[in-house]
Amino acid sequence: MSITKNRVVGFAYTLTDDDGAVIDSADVQSPLVYLHGHSQLIAGMENALGGREVGDQFSIVLPPEEAYGVYDENLAGAVPVSAFQGVDAVEVGMQFQMEFPGGLKVVTVSAVDDQHVTVDGNHPLAGDTLHFDIEVVSIRAATQDEIEHRHAHGPGGHQ
Ligand code: ZN
Repeated sequence: MSITKNRVVGFAYTLTDDDGAVIDSADVQSPLVYLHGHSQLIAGMENALGGREVGDQFSIVLPPEEAYGVYDENLAGAVPVSAFQGVDAVEVGMQFQMEFPGGLKVVTVSAVDDQHVTVDGNHPLAGDTLHFDIEVVSIRAATQDEIEHRHAHGPGGHQ
């Protein structure tokens, strides 16, 4: 059985950046499980998994354009502290919704001083080239419920 639309796929992976630093991983004992063909993964990754079989091991390199996008300077900057009235203490790592010309975005606080809060609305991996080492661990047909819900159920998936 190979990976095609409406198969539930489990895979182990190691994600590293250009310097070889590990950003994220899942091992064969607790693979990431997803429903293929429903854009649950970034497109470059889903495309690379199509047609593979259990036991296949391969590597892919995704430039920012095929991963989490290029870094957008317009989504980052300093905002006056007064814009956060009603928040007891603004701290690094907090997330807020902010209005941008393209609509609401979730921003993460990256720095705080007496007068300004620096926020960034880019995905943490925006601008990064992603290197994935992947091993396909399991493939099965999806249930009707999974296809209707457009996600995998059971261990590793949505419960
Ligand atoms: Zn569901």
